[in-house]
Parts: sequence; C-alpha cells; structure tokens
Amino acid sequence: MTFYSTADRSHRAGLREAVLAGLPPVGGLYMPERIETLPASFFESTPTLDFADIASRMARPLLGPEVPDDVLERIVRGAFDFPVPLLALPDGRFVLELFHGPTLAFKDFAARFMARLMAHFVAGGERTLHILVATSGDTGSAVAHGFLGVPGIMVHVLFPSGRVSAVQEAQLTSAGENVTALEIAGTFDDCQRLVKSAFLDPETRARLMLSSANSINVARLVPQSFYYCFAWSRLPDRSRPVVVSVPSGNFGNLTGGLIAKRMGLPVSRFIAATNANDAVPRFLSGGAYEPRPAVATLSNAMDVSSPSNWERILDLCGGDRNAIGKDLTGCSFDDDATRKAIRELHTRFGYVADPHGAVGWLGLERYGREARREFTGVFLETAHPAKFLGVVETETGVRVEVPDRVRAVLSRPRHAVKMAAEFAALKEYLLAQSE
Ligand SMILES: *Cc1c(COP(=O)(O)O)cnc(C)c1O
Repeated sequence: MTFYSTADRSHRAGLREAVLAGLPPVGGLYMPERIETLPASFFESTPTLDFADIASRMARPLLGPEVPDDVLERIVRGAFDFPVPLLALPDGRFVLELFHGPTLAFKDFAARFMARLMAHFVAGGERTLHILVATSGDTGSAVAHGFLGVPGIMVHVLFPSGRVSAVQEAQLTSAGENVTALEIAGTFDDCQRLVKSAFLDPETRARLMLSSANSINVARLVPQSFYYCFAWSRLPDRSRPVVVSVPSGNFGNLTGGLIAKRMGLPVSRFIAATNANDAVPRFLSGGAYEPRPAVATLSNAMDVSSPSNWERILDLCGGDRNAIGKDLTGCSFDDDATRKAIRELHTRFGYVADPHGAVGWLGLERYGREARREFTGVFLETAHPAKFLGVVETETGVRVEVPDRVRAVLSRPRHAVKMAAEFAALKEYLLAQSE
C-alpha cells in the first residue's frame, strides 16, 4: 500500500517508510491511497470468524503486499490475544469492552499491533530501532507493554515526574528489558519538546535509528478499525441500522471506525461523543472549527483541544461538512452529566462504567431520544473502571476490583532514569545508547 500526506497528496511513502517515520516530512498525516471495499460475503461470514481472522482479512488490503499474509496473521494473533466482549444491556443497547488488554485501555490494540509491525520491518537488520515516546500516562504504558521483549527495538518513554498516576508510574517504570523510563523534571509539554528536539538533531539522527510511537502513526490507526467489524459480527440481530458511539479525544478511534465503514462495514452512523473539549461537536452542529484551550475533565484521556486526527476525517470526507454530517453526529457532555451517567448505568443496568465509556453511553442516549427510527446502538467502553477508582466507586457505591495483572505491577521493582528537562541531557543519554 502506498500512503500520501493529507497536506500534500503528491508526497508518497510505502508502508515501511510511513510506519517507521510516523509523520510525513512535508507535514500532514499519512493516509492509505486506496481503501478497498470488501465483498458483502466477507461481512456475512464474520459471525463465524474469530477476532484475529477478521483483523487479518481487514488488514490485508491496507498493509499488503509489503507484509506477507502469514506474517500479518502472526502479528494479529500475537497482538490481540485478549477477549473483546460485546455485552447486551437490559434496554437492548450494547457495549463493546475494549479494555481487556494488559494496560486496561483500548490503546493496547494500537500499541500491540504497531510494535509487532515495526518489529517485522526491523527484523534481521543490523541496527537497533530506538522508539522515543512522550507520555502523560496511558499512551506510554500501552507502548511500553506493546514493545516489551520485541527484538531489535529499544523503547525510551519520557514521562513528567510526579504528574502521572501511581498505577501509570508503576506500569511505566517496571517494564524492564528493552523499555527504559525517563523521569523528566518537567511537564508533559517538556517531554514532547525533548522528543521533538531529538528528531530535529542531526547528530542524534545520524547515530541512532529513531522512530516515534505517537498516536498518529498509521500503524496505530489501522488496528482501530478491526473491532468495529468484530462488534457488528457479534450482534444478535443485524437487520436494523447500526449506530456506534465513540468517546473521542484525538479522534483516532473514530477515524478507525470510518475506515471500517469505507471498507463496507454496514454501520449507518457514528456518534462523536466528547467531554467539555468540544471543538468537533461544535463544528458538526454548524459552527466554525475553533479549538479552545483544553480543559481538565473526569475523562482525562479525551482532554484534547485540537484533535490530531481531525485532518484525516476531513480528508476522508473531502473536507465537505455535509459529507461529514452523513457519517457523524457530534455531542459533548460535562463532568456532572458524566457522573450522573456512571450512576445511572449502575442503577438501571448494573453496569459499572468508567468516565470515558459513560460519555460514549450518553452520546447513544442523546441520539436515541432524537432519532426518528429504530436502530441498534453500540457504545465503546475504552478504559477499565479500575483506572478511575475514585469517581466510579463514589458514584456507584460498589468496590471495583483491580485486575490481578495491574495489582502485580504495583509490587514489581521500578527503575527510571531521572533527567533534567534539557535536550543536552537527553542527547547525552541517547548517544550513550548507540552501538
Ligand atoms: C485515548 C483514549 C480515548 C480517546 O481516543 P481517541 O482515539 O484519542 O479519540 C478515549 N478513552 C480512553 C480511555 C483513552 O485512553
């Protein structure tokens, strides 16, 4: 597959280049040149296929022939080795739980797939690939776990000292092996600036093969289309229009859904559900696209002022507001509504949701009140409620079990390299890694 840049369609790159570079040198984001429509017979066959079967069939036209079928099969089997339950709520709506991976958030899908794809591209090579990633918490954990033990790759995760949660810090600093945590005396913005400086520094680039694991890598986008098809395949009745509500921040998850729809998945509409950071819903309801400074909310993984994947959504829809409106309905909810939703999901259905999933459910509820037709509704639950114990336990009054795999992390030995928020320090560290 060839990829172009949303900023300049004449700039082209092969899959390997697009994945290892992350961002096109000319600006913009990579998009696949062609999104092939899969035959209706494929979708009809999906109820008998498992997750990895569906994933490899969808990945093939997007990533082949650069990745041979048997390699792709191995990548998806290795990456998606955890359950992806679609649960029915008593009112006939469905929730797709995407948090059963090792770090309890849906980012595991993207990170685990990307790690294996990058490993394929560097396998047998002479040089080690060094991945630099700045994190405010979740992304770094998912990336650290995704790449853990992958041969030929070293991961360096920069996190702001004292500004990630206790669980996140444990996840980041206890991985070991080929993953090193760099504890930066500064903010998340400092971490991002340091990573950027490394990519711009000619000496560092000459000495080390560097790549980033940022959220706009196409290798993270593609796997976020698979579970939409899987959810559809597990619905007991596919005769009514299917509407999927996606709690959104950077809109990578939703872009994955739109790609699945372009491949022929019969989803009639997506709901872009955000918290108070509502640049996209305001645009979708007729306003200008005017990002405002990000505000902190309960669903903090969606505290994004200017979604990085919005460019891709515009590109998929030819930049046309009416075309976007055919696929997407936007809505936003504040923290009070989110708390109330967590309570209501529990009292009405006995379902314990995290704040992100609660926003997704609210989007579906709002749509249901306004829709003039019957539909089958699905919302995505993107994080395990144990990641947000305080608010979830307060609103539901139930004690949330922290899964064993997370509890185990808390008692593992930790190691972080403490570093000043200065590029000279990062550069010295990185050059010491070069062979
Ligand atoms: C990252 C994240 C989101 C937002 O996903 P986007 O692809 O950025 O829209 C939602 N929920 C959780 C738990 C996340 O970690």
